[in-house]
Amino acid sequence: MTRAVTILGATGSIGCSTLDVIARHPERYRVFALTAATNAEKLAVQVLEHAPDYAVMLNNSGADAVRCRLPAGHPTQVLSGEEALAWVAGHEDTDIVMAAIVGAAGLLPSLAAARAGKRVLLANKEALVMAGPLFMEAIKQGGAELLPIDSEHNAIFQSLPEHYGGHFAPYGISKILLTASGGPFRGWQSAQLEAVTPAQAVAHPNWSMGQKISVDSATLMNKGLELIEACFLFNCQPDQVQVVVHPQSVIHSLVQYCDGSVMAQLGQPDMRTPIAYGLAWPERITSGVAPLDLVTIGRFDFEAADEETFPCLALARRAFSVGGTMPTVLNAANEIAVEAFLGERIPFSTIPTLVKRVMDAHETTTVKSLETVLMADHWARNQAILLLQGSVNEVDA
Ligand code: NAD
Ligand code: MG
Repeated sequence: MTRAVTILGATGSIGCSTLDVIARHPERYRVFALTAATNAEKLAVQVLEHAPDYAVMLNNSGADAVRCRLPAGHPTQVLSGEEALAWVAGHEDTDIVMAAIVGAAGLLPSLAAARAGKRVLLANKEALVMAGPLFMEAIKQGGAELLPIDSEHNAIFQSLPEHYGGHFAPYGISKILLTASGGPFRGWQSAQLEAVTPAQAVAHPNWSMGQKISVDSATLMNKGLELIEACFLFNCQPDQVQVVVHPQSVIHSLVQYCDGSVMAQLGQPDMRTPIAYGLAWPERITSGVAPLDLVTIGRFDFEAADEETFPCLALARRAFSVGGTMPTVLNAANEIAVEAFLGERIPFSTIPTLVKRVMDAHETTTVKSLETVLMADHWARNQAILLLQGSVNEVDA
């Protein structure tokens, strides 16, 4: 029987890779719904190719723009708005939901999928960082299956014991080794980072990804978000997760055991591998990814992360350790900072400074409800914008 898949964020990098894998297995998967923010042209092309039951755009004008690109009588229903996003994600006719919207905007539809007990393929790490305890609880309560798609977390999932129950000790697990490419500015000094442009920051050496995650990779905030993601997903503390820079991005992460064994997952830096794994688990299907040729790769290098030049990693560790609403605030401030950097309103080095200033000003509260999270997110965005409006000098002070 074919399984129906909803792709939240279908027009993005992960969304397109997911469609690529699905198209290789028409006997296994069919597309139930595709969603996008504003790119009507691309969504319409995807709708014509995959004929989903539903297509969802963020607003009415976007939905109209999709409709007018479809021939009369086309079977796909085109909807719009945030409620429609959550509705398709939790719809009884969808089995699998790929959560691949970028940023906090992905939280509500991802939660809807979790509550409705879907197989949730989680690419959207920001949703987990901003609302980790709520999201994990929703997965449990809804009886959902959570498959991490972020390559590192997918590698950790593959390297953990099959029935890992959320605690290291009974399984003899010592720690998680979270690998990082180091980003495009690995080895650079602070002074060299002053003048970097958005174009330089989004040019990742190994991975082709959306703009936001590419900037996060350049600041090492991506590794910080992933550290928090690992702590929530695998129920551990930051000191049980060691970040190791591995510039080739072939070892996607490792798990160290008390007997000295280290289990790892390796592969080409191509997201279709973790996507195929998440779709088919516990089976394996082809993904279109070329086999790994170790002789061609030749060598693996490792080094420590330069946390002084790239302070975002330490900020993330601090946010998780403080707990409560602090990870929400870290994420929200970072989203504003990245947007300002991409819009050439602040220099690269102001990203960590701005995030730190917003965190310093935050009075943490316990995460009791979704409302607490949304309020903290809203507060942090406002605070970051106020600081940016004040003056960049003030932010840098
Ligand atoms: P992207 O920018 O290429 O695509 C983002 C998608 O989200 C697009 O379809 C866009 O239309 C949609 N979107 C954006 N804002 C929205 C909004 N407000 N409401 C509804 N939809 C919205 O991003 P990406 O690189 O595909 O990354 C998606 C997510 O997956 C991110 O959270 C990222 O951290 C994570 N991730 C990506 C990769 C990768 O290789 N690209 C790897 C690991 C994790
Ligand atoms: Mg990753």
